[in-house]
Amino acid sequence: MIIFNSVSKSYKNKDISVHDIELSINKGEFVTFIGPSGAGKTTLIRLLLAEEKPTSGTVTFDGVNVHNLRRKDIPKYRQRIGVVFQDYKLLEDKTVYENVAFAMEMIGKSDADIKADVPYALDLVGLDHKGFSFPHQLSGGEQQRLAIARAIINQPDVLIADEPTGSLDPEGSRGVLRILEKINELGTTIILATHDRDVVDELHRRVVRIEEGRIIRDSKKGKYHE
Ligand code: ADP
Repeated sequence: MIIFNSVSKSYKNKDISVHDIELSINKGEFVTFIGPSGAGKTTLIRLLLAEEKPTSGTVTFDGVNVHNLRRKDIPKYRQRIGVVFQDYKLLEDKTVYENVAFAMEMIGKSDADIKADVPYALDLVGLDHKGFSFPHQLSGGEQQRLAIARAIINQPDVLIADEPTGSLDPEGSRGVLRILEKINELGTTIILATHDRDVVDELHRRVVRIEEGRIIRDSKKGKYHE
């Protein structure tokens, strides 16, 4: 489904950020990108989202070179990929329910669809009883689960989680991982970038280790250190 073919990216005035990346991710996989800060994980994610263009090589999504998409087709393409970040990026003046509903309004979904889908998504992430709360009334783990509900509400093919547990305690992290596993079981491909060793070892999924812009390990049921 996703193929990085010989992808390199260098930024102006910078050494190479990622170098000669060969990577395929199949539909339904759960892949973790690990490696130290500055290794190139976020660069790979930005290339996949067509937020950056590779200096050389191609990134294809279901056979389409994402860097050849016309500007007007890019928003539609990005709808196929949900993203969550370490800092949640929630709308603080909207309730839990409204945060998720807003993502549907943005793409023109009907009120009837919103009323049907939002409770389902909140239930999926264990926040069905918190619909009227505001983000600041939630724990960190709950805020991240809300961000996940928002990211999947429009049924993307892929969910990218970039350091989603970076600000969470172990209990909050575990809650987020359980939700990611559940979403993966329901058929969504997951790409999780993390440098949290406990997260990687607990998941025991495919591990792609990146160091200094290169993939140095790709193991099927990996641990952080091998
Ligand atoms: P990671 O997500 O693994 O921490 P990044 O992909 O953010 O790593 O960064 C990889 C390298 O690319 C780093 O050396 C970083 O400084 C560089 N880099 C990332 N984004 C930019 C940018 N917009 N301009 C210049 N250099 C960048």
